Amino acid sequence: ATPTAIMVGTGRAAHLGILVKGAEVLEGSKKITTVVFDKTGTLTRGQMQLAETATADGSEPDMLRMAAAVESGSEHPVAAAITTAAHERGLDLPAVAEFTNVAGHGVRAEVEGTVVHVGRQELLDQQQLHLPEQLAARAADMEAQGYTAVYAGWDGHVHGVLGVADTLKDEATAVVRHLHGMGLEVAMITGDNQQTAEAVAAQAGIDRVLAEVLPTDKVTEVRRLQDEGRVVAMVGDGVNDAPALVQANLGIAIGTGTDVAIESSDITLMSGQLDGVTHAIQLSRKTLRTIY
Ligand code: ADP
Ligand code: MG
Repeated sequence: ATPTAIMVGTGRAAHLGILVKGAEVLEGSKKITTVVFDKTGTLTRGQMQLAETATADGSEPDMLRMAAAVESGSEHPVAAAITTAAHERGLDLPAVAEFTNVAGHGVRAEVEGTVVHVGRQELLDQQQLHLPEQLAARAADMEAQGYTAVYAGWDGHVHGVLGVADTLKDEATAVVRHLHGMGLEVAMITGDNQQTAEAVAAQAGIDRVLAEVLPTDKVTEVRRLQDEGRVVAMVGDGVNDAPALVQANLGIAIGTGTDVAIESSDITLMSGQLDGVTHAIQLSRKTLRTIY
């Protein structure tokens, strides 16, 4: 490619709020076959809210108070939803000790002498915290609605389930439709559970779902798609997306995301709007057509 033509491409990109890291980036993106979106904070707004709670025994405020106390130590969007809800309900949170973050799974801490776990079902399973049937049913309902079900347990069993809701970005569905129209395969990758992931993907019109992927495994999933012959554009915002953004043939970071994701990407969408994904790929196709 001639340097001049590439410069034209990147100039037009800047105009669209797309920051292209190097001149060769657009060239590398010409053969993209597959666009993989991270879920939380990329396809969705990432501002989670507590939508629903259920308890097996005891009062809901008591359960929420325990869960929120433990989550006070976490910076995960799920934690923010739970602590905000507790504050809004005027609950006084007890102090916690021995806070531990279990990446991709949840958190635990000691509250008033009791060890409390809050997180995915697997985390509580591993601790032999028994899940009562009526709570499992409520959790399944929440997940079918696209909520992330967060379990809170102590003293041998799960005491509550918290349904945390996130919403798709306004443009998500249109962007997915547009990418499909361009002949591209679209997938979603997330650490969230299969049911929730499928519900959110269905809302966005995405049929390929990679769920329950541990933070360290997103990069492995991208490599696997490449080994199967795909040329992958990865779109992400989080610290845990960074290695996958580097591995992808084209790494696209959301400008409102973390610095690590931006540093690991080839392209940054300044506004955080997903339309930039379509524009970037279209632009690379056009730029190359001018050159050759
Ligand atoms: P993603 O960023 O793709 O949603 P993460 O790897 O950060 O995924 O988390 C995966 C899942 O682990 C979350 O969907 C949630 O169920 C659970 N989880 C992670 N951190 C927390 C937390 N602080 N509290 C409760 N659950 C958590
Ligand atoms: Mg994310």
